[in-house]
Amino acid sequence: MYQVGIFGEKLSHSLSPVFQNVAFKYCQIPALYEVWEFSKDELYERVNLLRKPNSLGANVTIPYKELAYDMVDDLDETAKQIGAINTIVNNSGKLKGYNTDVSGFIRSLKEIASFDPTGKNVLILGAGGAARAAIFGLVNQKVNSITVANRTVDRAVKLINDFGVDQEIFSILSVYDEKISEISLKSDLIINATSVGMKHSSMEFESLLSPDQIPANCVVYDIVYNPLITPLLKSAQEAGAEIIQGLWMLIFQGVDSFELWTGKSAPVQNMYQKAMEHFKSLG
Ligand code: NAP
Repeated sequence: MYQVGIFGEKLSHSLSPVFQNVAFKYCQIPALYEVWEFSKDELYERVNLLRKPNSLGANVTIPYKELAYDMVDDLDETAKQIGAINTIVNNSGKLKGYNTDVSGFIRSLKEIASFDPTGKNVLILGAGGAARAAIFGLVNQKVNSITVANRTVDRAVKLINDFGVDQEIFSILSVYDEKISEISLKSDLIINATSVGMKHSSMEFESLLSPDQIPANCVVYDIVYNPLITPLLKSAQEAGAEIIQGLWMLIFQGVDSFELWTGKSAPVQNMYQKAMEHFKSLG
C-alpha cells in the first residue's frame, strides 16, 4: 500500500483526504491519503520519512509551505519563483517540491470557465497568501493588468514588490475606495481572495462588490469555498456574470498533486462530487 498525506496544523476539517482517496480508488491505485498533523519541530523528520519506497509524497499546508521549501532536494520553476511548496513528490528517495496552488488555480480558470487569462484585465480583492498564489499564476500567464484591492493598502504594495516583472501591469487601491466600481466594471476577471463571505465569520453575509459593480461579461471567482455560493457569487449571478466556486481551486491543487504523484489523469468530476457531498453532509 502506498502512503501519501497532508502536512499541517489544525487539519481536522481538511477535505483533501475525502477527494484524494476517491481519486486513488477510481484509478485503482493502492494508496491511502492521510492527515498528518504535527508541530514545527517534527517537520524535518517527517519530510525525510517521505523518502521511503512506499511513499508517494505529501501535500503541505499552512504553516509549513515555506519551511518545507528548504527541505526538499529539488524544486520546480513555479515553486522556486513563489518561494513556497504545497506538494512533495518522492522520486526513488529524491524529493521534489511543487506549487500546485498556482498551477491548479490557473487550470481551474481554463477548465471550469474556459477562461484564458492572457491579455486580460484582472481585479483581485485581497493581498494575503491566496492572492499571492493567484497573482503568480496570472503574471506567468501574461495578463494585461492586475489591480490589487486590499483593506490594508501597504500589504498590497509589499506583495506586488515581490514580483520581478514590469510593475506597470499593477495598480493598487483600498478595497473601500469608491474608484473600485470604475475598475471592476472594466474587468474580465474578478477574484475575491479575502476571507469576506466566509461562513461562521463576522463577514459571513458580506460581499465586497454589489451586482451593479459587476459586468455581465466577466468571470467572478471567489476563493472562499465555505459556503459554496458566497455573497459575492450571488451578486455575480444577479449581474449575469459567470462564477467559479472556491471549491474548484481546492480541487485543482489536489488534481495537479495527484497527477504528479501518480502520472495518471485525475478523475476531476468524481473528486469534486465527493468533496461537495461531504461538504453538504456537514450542513
Ligand atoms: P490571509 O493571508 O490571512 O489573507 C486574508 C485576506 O483577507 C487579506 O487580504 C485581508 O486583508 C483580507 N480580509 C480579512 N478580513 C477582512 C475584512 N473584514 N474586510 C476586508 N478584507 C479582509 O488568508 P489567505 O490564506 O490568503 O486566505 C484568504 C481566504 O481564501 C480564506 O477565506 C481562505 O479560506 C481562502 N482560501 C481558499 C483556498 C482554496 O483552495 N479555495 C486556498 C487558500 C485560501 P488585510 O491584509 O487588510 O488584513
